[in-house]
Amino acid sequence: MPAEPVQVETDVLVIGAGGAGMYAAIEAARAGAQVFLIDRSLIGRGGATVMAQMTVAVALGAEVPDHWSHHLDDTLAAGRGLCSEPLARLLCEEGPDCIREMEQWGIGWARRDGHFAQAMAPGHDRPRCVYVDFLNTGPAVSKTLRTVVNKTAGIRKAGDLAVVDLAVQDGEVTGAVALHLGSGAPVVVSAKATVLGTGGLTRLYRRNSASLNMGGDGYALALRAGAPLLDMEFVQFFPIGHLAPRLIGMDPIMWDPFRYKLGGRLLNNQGEEFAQRYGVAEDGKYVLTRDVGTYGIIKEVEAGRGSPHGGVYLSFQHCSAEALRAAFGPVIDRLAANNIDLTKMPVEVAPIAHYHMGGVQADVRMETELPGLLVAGEAVGGANGANRLSGNAITEALVFGRRAGRSAAERVARVRARPKAEGGAALDLIGAGSRDDGPNTAAMIHALQATMADEVGPLRTEAKLHRALATIERLTRELGERPTGTNAPFDLRRLEWFDLRNMLLVALVVAAAALRRQESRGAHQREDFPEMVPDWRVNQMVRLDGGRIALASVAAAPAEPAQPAEMAAQ
Ligand SMILES: Cc1cc2nc3c(=O)[nH]c(=O)nc-3n(C[C@H](O)[C@H](O)[C@H](O)COP(=O)(O)OP(=O)(O)OC[C@H]3O[C@@H](n4cnc5c(N)ncnc54)[C@H](O)[C@@H]3O)c2cc1C
Repeated sequence: MPAEPVQVETDVLVIGAGGAGMYAAIEAARAGAQVFLIDRSLIGRGGATVMAQMTVAVALGAEVPDHWSHHLDDTLAAGRGLCSEPLARLLCEEGPDCIREMEQWGIGWARRDGHFAQAMAPGHDRPRCVYVDFLNTGPAVSKTLRTVVNKTAGIRKAGDLAVVDLAVQDGEVTGAVALHLGSGAPVVVSAKATVLGTGGLTRLYRRNSASLNMGGDGYALALRAGAPLLDMEFVQFFPIGHLAPRLIGMDPIMWDPFRYKLGGRLLNNQGEEFAQRYGVAEDGKYVLTRDVGTYGIIKEVEAGRGSPHGGVYLSFQHCSAEALRAAFGPVIDRLAANNIDLTKMPVEVAPIAHYHMGGVQADVRMETELPGLLVAGEAVGGANGANRLSGNAITEALVFGRRAGRSAAERVARVRARPKAEGGAALDLIGAGSRDDGPNTAAMIHALQATMADEVGPLRTEAKLHRALATIERLTRELGERPTGTNAPFDLRRLEWFDLRNMLLVALVVAAAALRRQESRGAHQREDFPEMVPDWRVNQMVRLDGGRIALASVAAAPAEPAQPAEMAAQ
């Protein structure tokens, strides 16, 4: 017997308790709305925010004079002509305010000589990134927001609630339907406003920096509800993900802060600092943007100049033990526990899926095309165009979260009657009877991740993308229409079925958008179309139309920054 759904009513439903979701909840509650903040994992510990390491880009001007318009210029240039300028502007203009508010909440941004310390990062024209030291930025951001969430009246919270579908009536979003992992029971939440703060999609890839909760749920939820997505072909690969030797207990992208502080040399197997070949002279400094770094590393490996495990070397051997210890303190001991002594050896690094520039289309109020549905953080598409600058993602989570919370509360004040969400087909799926004859969903996730890495990775071709689409379609047929597993507590087979339902839809959209874009731009590099093409300075919008995806081009904002020479030359 399927369990009766648990019914919850609220003014604002916030789905996802990362940086964006928690800030949205706080802001909506401060404006007087009743908020229900839910997450498929633990509140404030489930997504990318808690994993983030170092940089938060904001034009505070603490080290050298700065202005948000300079930050905007750098963001637009990195986005290669595809940024939604209003969203990028919002990010840059309101970032400093959120950072100061976080300081008042006690985060403890690192300081130097009495002012905020701001680090230089690739693509920024001056030191602009605040941080909390020793790889602690993300944990500190999460802890600070969790503390404020806990202190703010009007916020109810629930973990272990995986949203399966949004509830839509007459084109309006009226809440959501979730699976409670701890009981297997369905939960229907009715809300005047629903904020999607579900983060990114990097779990789609074999090597990724993500948590298990980043399979692109929010994109799939929005798409099935009828909202369009933007720029889904632009997956950011982080060039220097740890590859070898084995490193336990550390994040694969931990080398980034080392490079911010100490530079470090990116070397091929001939000991050459090869970045120059791709148009960027690093000379021991860290100036390589992510798209160019990823491209250069893959090309070095293809040319037979890679490291034994298929990446390149990152060396800090020119730094003294004292300099390393001064910059990284206890992290040096954790490396030693893994038999890594940076004064004696380089490490091997290679690109790893890290962030998604695409996402749900929204205006500067963070409202989507669907009344009642707002979006925040990495789930939003367009602010970073074809490539994101270091440090812009946390800023985006905080600024867009705060704005979404405010807009949600304004909608609550406007809408008189609280709607009653209908569970619909999602209730049916959650309550479906046992199915033991279904496919092996764990093996299918593995197959999908391999396909995305090999065929929809940093360097794409028409043939690769067709192969990916064929595999995704085969896996979708294999998955079928009825969930596997049971509706018993913590039946992870059932959760995996729902995860795959979303992952396959999102993978399809990414691959289809990549196939349609016949040029190379930012993080999207087509080996069969190596040039950036002016006619392709358009955003691609995706919708679900009668169960099939439909792609269309929409004009991008004016002013085209130049493609860096190193990419155009390849
Ligand atoms: C290892 C790592 C290091 C990083 N370092 C930096 C850095 O130094 N600087 C920077 O600017 N950016 C960094 N980033 C990127 C940045 O952290 C993210 O873009 C940002 O934190 C996203 O915040 P968010 O709130 O949008 O999403 P998240 O923090 O990912 O939160 C999303 C939440 O939604 C929940 N969720 C997802 N689906 C569902 C569902 N169906 N139902 C209910 N809940 C759901 C998840 O469990 C999760 O808790 C890093 C990312 C990673 C992975």
